[in-house]
Amino acid sequence: MTFEAPPSDLVDRLVYANRILYDQGIVDGLGHVSVRHPTQDGVFLLSCNRAPGLVKRQDIVCYDLDGNAVSQTTERPYLERFIHSEIYRARPDVVAVVHSHSPSVIPFAITHNPLKPVFHMSGFLGSGSAHFEIREAAGNSDMLIRSAYLGEALAKSLGKHNCVLMRGHGSTVVGTSLEQVVYRAIYAEVNAKLQLAANGLGEISFLNEEEAQLASDMNDGQIPRSWNLWVTRLGQVDIGN
Ligand code: MN
Repeated sequence: MTFEAPPSDLVDRLVYANRILYDQGIVDGLGHVSVRHPTQDGVFLLSCNRAPGLVKRQDIVCYDLDGNAVSQTTERPYLERFIHSEIYRARPDVVAVVHSHSPSVIPFAITHNPLKPVFHMSGFLGSGSAHFEIREAAGNSDMLIRSAYLGEALAKSLGKHNCVLMRGHGSTVVGTSLEQVVYRAIYAEVNAKLQLAANGLGEISFLNEEEAQLASDMNDGQIPRSWNLWVTRLGQVDIGN
């Protein structure tokens, strides 16, 4: 099978996804976003080892589901690319993945409390986020998903959920498009802030499963409006050649 280069507009959108996630405070020097190759089965696009706020077109590399580069590159890969490869392997419905250490989700991850949808913007959380305990898979570790084995364990914990909280580390969200997964990463963080703010005020009425699904479906139709705003907010961006 000959390797087809990914469409240039998808590469551009992935560069913008990186820049948006940094601009919105979801990723910092670390964290990453990927998307499936539209025509090559078992291949996905992810930046090389670059801070998301600095990613350019030439940094985007294609990897297979074993985490090996299949396009020409001399750059180092992200250590945690196995988060992406193993979720794509386990979840054929997933088209895009964001991994971040966005701070407001950490209190939930370390207390084993799920994020649950407090408002319509986070209906994608459904009945709640999943939880990953790396100690069960690896004993004491540096907390990173640095192998296919750990990626597989994370994907197993994610199950059918759209969001998995990683104890002592961060979170990973999945979606059916690049724009949708960026939206979900942003609103997982917003939901965490709001859920924390409501804590102690009284019993929280979360969206129930049907409300969550209806709200999620409704919001999916509105994502281009937010995406256009996030891109415009970036102003002039040098995304390279
Ligand atoms: Mn990480």
